[in-house]
Amino acid sequence: MTSAPPEIAYAPKDAERLDHFMARAAAAYYAARDPFQDFVTSPEISQAFGECLGLWAAVTWQAMGRPDSVLLVECGPGRGSLMADALRAIAEMMPDFRAALQVQLVETSPRLREAQAAKLGAVGATWHADVATLPEAPMILLANEFLDALPIRQFIRRGASWCERFVMNGAFIEQPSDVGLGHDAPEGAVCEVNEAAQHFAAWLGVRLARHGGAALLIDYGPAESSFGDSLQAMRAGQSVNPLSAPGEVDITAHVDFAAFAAAARAVGAITHGPLPQGVFLQRLGFMTRAAMLARLDPSRAQAQLAAAHRLTAPEAMGRLFKALALCDSSLPIPAGFETA
Ligand code: SAH
Repeated sequence: MTSAPPEIAYAPKDAERLDHFMARAAAAYYAARDPFQDFVTSPEISQAFGECLGLWAAVTWQAMGRPDSVLLVECGPGRGSLMADALRAIAEMMPDFRAALQVQLVETSPRLREAQAAKLGAVGATWHADVATLPEAPMILLANEFLDALPIRQFIRRGASWCERFVMNGAFIEQPSDVGLGHDAPEGAVCEVNEAAQHFAAWLGVRLARHGGAALLIDYGPAESSFGDSLQAMRAGQSVNPLSAPGEVDITAHVDFAAFAAAARAVGAITHGPLPQGVFLQRLGFMTRAAMLARLDPSRAQAQLAAAHRLTAPEAMGRLFKALALCDSSLPIPAGFETA
């Protein structure tokens, strides 16, 4: 992500391809800023989120035949809250799994690595800048709001062909492209392509097939691929122009779950979902856990229930956010993905 992007012959010298711009902006942003001042994520809203994902991992480990040694990987662990909540729940409910797992965190930001180390204390996690250095072993991988940070390319339908969007002087310019995206698109339609997510999906599919295991990816985006410009930026909880201040705002894009799942299936993974987050969490017993937390601490009962509502209600995060599972072909349907 940090290496210099190649020169693009077909664009003006000062123009930067959108994915290169986004990768550079995201690396600078996560290295220098506390992203949690700009947006809030599910593990920061309710501890029950990480607890439920921990139990999902525990049930998955059982389905894998309880291997003696397994990687519990998290990509983009933020403040480390999801992993801390997951490990606490795992230690309580399935100590054998806790003893078998090794925590592996994939994180590029030195600043967030420090926050994760502080939060996880004596857990003994290992950090990686890229999934490529993860040990070859069975694994269970979790990622919440990781894929949305990966850089996208954008193409716009112009006449009978496509143009690609570049960034120059804080604004978009378009350059003709010979990309093969098909012809069935109305004038002006925007098609987003996330090559980093595609590579990650393919890597994951191959790794799961080779060593066994499963992955759970939670993020926001539509269930079906569709046209549209989903590039967005947040600063202090407000939507801002994504091109205005690279490195100072959080830039993300919707996840194309269908494309991600197809890339994993192409190398042999079995995919389940995407399911709306609200449905998935309720099937995992999230509401029961939230109600229990509310009873345990009456002074925070209102806040606990409001948090649970925020994560599950369709008009809040329950529908736009989706859960997608990838499994090796020997595994049964993972918890929460049973078809009705
Ligand atoms: N999962 C956390 C944080 C989400 S923010 C939560 O739910 O709270 C995105 C996270 O992904 C941050 O930790 C960020 O530093 C990390 N990240 C973004 N791009 C990355 C990349 N290319 N490689 C590894 N980590 C990345």
